[in-house]
Parts: sequence; structure tokens; C-alpha cells
Amino acid sequence: MPPFDPPDKDVQAARQAKAEAAELAKPIHVLGAGLSGLAAATYLANAGREVHVHEIRGDSGARFDGDFQGIENWTSGSDFFNEIQEWGFDPDEFKSDAFDVIDLVHPDDEITQPRTSGVAFRIVERGTAEHCIDQGFKRMALDAGAQIHYDTRRSPQDCHIVAAGPKESSAVAFGEIFHTDHPNHVTFQLNDKLAPGAYSYFIVIAWYEQHYDLNRKPIKRVGGKGDFSMPDKYVHDGRYYVGEAGGLQDFMWGFGMRYAVTSGVLAAKAVLGECDYETEVRKRLVPLVRASAINRFLMNRVGNRGFKMVANHWMRDQRRKGDGLAFMQWMYKPGLLRRLLWPVVRLGMLRRKELADGRMVSRMPFRKSLSRDIWEQSVRAEEIGNEWDQVRKGGGRSSFGESDA
Ligand SMILES: Cc1cc2nc3c(=O)[nH]c(=O)nc-3n(C[C@H](O)[C@H](O)[C@H](O)COP(=O)(O)OP(=O)(O)OC[C@H]3O[C@@H](n4cnc5c(N)ncnc54)[C@H](O)[C@@H]3O)c2cc1C
Repeated sequence: MPPFDPPDKDVQAARQAKAEAAELAKPIHVLGAGLSGLAAATYLANAGREVHVHEIRGDSGARFDGDFQGIENWTSGSDFFNEIQEWGFDPDEFKSDAFDVIDLVHPDDEITQPRTSGVAFRIVERGTAEHCIDQGFKRMALDAGAQIHYDTRRSPQDCHIVAAGPKESSAVAFGEIFHTDHPNHVTFQLNDKLAPGAYSYFIVIAWYEQHYDLNRKPIKRVGGKGDFSMPDKYVHDGRYYVGEAGGLQDFMWGFGMRYAVTSGVLAAKAVLGECDYETEVRKRLVPLVRASAINRFLMNRVGNRGFKMVANHWMRDQRRKGDGLAFMQWMYKPGLLRRLLWPVVRLGMLRRKELADGRMVSRMPFRKSLSRDIWEQSVRAEEIGNEWDQVRKGGGRSSFGESDA
């Protein structure tokens, strides 16, 4: 037998280049055409990869259909729009309104105004209309060359990136969309009577009507569920789990859009070999999710007295630092207190669960009803309920099913 001659360096390099080219030619499959899936698809298609996005619904944004949501600007040192521009997205593809101030309503109805010199958050519309953020991201994905297959089913096992949104319910949010003559404005209210343990923003109309001249004409109701689960791993069986499918969601306020886009981009970078997804998510996003879970744990425990203390502290912090956003940024810093609290939160608030695909998660179940949740509806609240019944009879729609309520 002739002696085995190892291939020379040129042959080895050529073989490796061929293998790499074959790998690059393979199409990438993404499950879900929400923000996280579309962000991943756009980044990959811009890098020259063939991308297929499989979406069970008829269009992107159909899950929300007309809901207004806030994109926060406090979990990172950079403005979110600067970040997405660096990743190749164009924020002008969708309509957004930037805010630097809010009315903060304390539990005793005192109104103060945290403000910042930059952008505190932006309000965008979710849905299938052209100006909605979902449609903006869809256009960017298509322009980059991604192929989106609507009304299709595909197994997560056959996808590289799973971006299929929440599976379980840890929280629900409901809102009413109405026409108003009032100029752009955001009010954020911490009050156990309106949203026990949570918060409201122009949700309980009766209170807002007394304090703002709204000329309110209801159109429809929107809402849905959110899943607050932290998986043990963000890469499972070689698949990248992004956005809410990967538990990348804010446990305190439910602000998940920024996590969705960021994780989508990180997964795309990982597919391209530009980063390690597990490491990057743990470094960049998990500390924020953890801080939000600790804050949620605390919020579940304080009532109106605690909310009043928080509101006062926020305003004191603004006076001291000259910027109301600094308080929100502080809420997401790990710090010693939060680090000490984390084991208590994990044991006290989260429950271990094995999902159908074999992933282990620590999830937040609905909390038990507390005495703070029980209160009598005001006469005005009942009137508004009846008003909505009339709107519904006249064709008013809800973006959520009765089972979500
Ligand atoms: C009522 C409400 C209010 C909210 N308000 C805010 C807010 O103000 N600010 C904020 O930042 N966040 C908010 N969020 C959270 C935010 O909307 C989500 O975190 C974010 O949209 C998650 O993006 P995603 O891409 O992970 O999931 P999604 O946007 O849910 O996208 C997932 C997509 O996958 C599709 N899909 C599901 N299953 C399958 C399947 N088997 N096959 C194919 N496709 C599938 C879905 O149809 C959907 O289009 C809110 C959420 C709710 C419910």
C-alpha cells in the first residue's frame, strides 16, 4: 500500500472554503414574523443569506392589531434608534412619537412630571396598518431579500431561530382605543385600585376623564397575554430562542419590544459566526430580565403606600440628578441589594417547568388573588362598560379572544 500523503495546505484551504461556501448557501429558517423574527431575518438577508420566515398568522402585527406600545430607552446607555440604525434598520420605516416627559400619577392622585433632556420612550402602533412598527420591520425584511411565508405551519425543530412569541400566560394587559381631541400625552399611574400590583396608562378612562378633556369616542379594545419565563438555556438543540419565545421580556412593565429586536439581531449575528448567542444574551439581556423580575417581586409586595414612596423617590432623584430617566436606569442596575434578593425571588416567585420541547424554564405563574385586588367598580366604570357593549354591538372589535380575558 502506498504511504498516505497528507493533502498540502492549498488543497486543505480549498476544501475548507468549499465547505464554508456550502454552509453559507444553506437557507436559514425563522419561526414567527413578529419583531424578533423579522429583525433576525433582515440582518441575515442583509448579510447575503437566504432566509425564510414562517408565520402562522396572515400578517405581521396581527397579534396586536392597533395596540399602542412604548419602546423604552432606559435599559441601555444608547438610544434605541441609534442602536437599530447601527444594525442596518431604518426607524423612519414606521411611525413613532418620542416623549421626554410623562404625567406620573401617585396613588393619592398627586401628579408630578419626571422628564429627561433626551428621549425617555417612543410610542409606536402595533398591527397590520402600513405605519405600524410590525409592517415597517416586515418591509425592511422583504427589501433585504428575506422570504416571508404567511399562514404557514412549520415545526420549531426545522427552524434555526425560534421567534414564535409567548406560549404561556403570566400576565394580561387590556386597553381601549378611542378617538380624542387631546394632544399627544402619556400618563403613567401607580394605583392599586386601577391596576393592583401593576400600572395603568390611560386605561381606566373614568379617572382620566375627570382630569383631562378627552372627548372620548371608543373604537375597539386591544390586549393579550405575556409570558414571563427564564429558560435555563437560550440555545437549545442548536436552535436560537429569541424575543418572548426565549423568555426575553420585562417582568416588571412588560416592555419586550427592545429585547425582541436585540435578541433577533444577536441570533442573526450568531448564525453568521459574529458572536456566541448564549454568551451575548447572558451578558447583555439576562441581567436586565433578572432585575425586572426582582422589581416585579417587590411590586407584588408593596401596595399604594409603597407606590407613593417610589413616586416620591423618583421625583427626589430627578431633583438631585436633573434627569428623570436616571431613576428608571437605576431600576435595571444589578447592584448589591438586587443580587442578594435574586435567590429569594427565584424561589419565591418563579416555578420550574419543563416545556413541550424539553426546555427547562423558571416561569412566573399568575399570582394568587390578594385583598388588594378586590374593589368595587365605580358607577362611572360600569357606565363605560355598558358604553363598550354598545360599541361592540355596532361592530367594535377586540384583538383578544374571550379566553384571554
Ligand atoms: C397587550 C400587550 C401590551 C404590550 N405592551 C408593550 C409595550 O408597551 N412595550 C413593549 O416593549 N412591549 C410590550 N408588550 C410586549 C411586546 O409586544 C412583546 O414582548 C414583543 O412583541 C415580542 O416580540 P416577539 O417577536 O418575541 O413575539 P411576537 O411579536 O408575538 O411575534 C411572534 C410571532 O410568531 C407567530 N407565531 C406564533 N406561533 C407560531 C407558530 N407555531 N408558527 C409560526 N408562527 C408563529 C405569531 O403569530 C407572531 O406573529 C406588550 C404585550 C402585550 C400582549
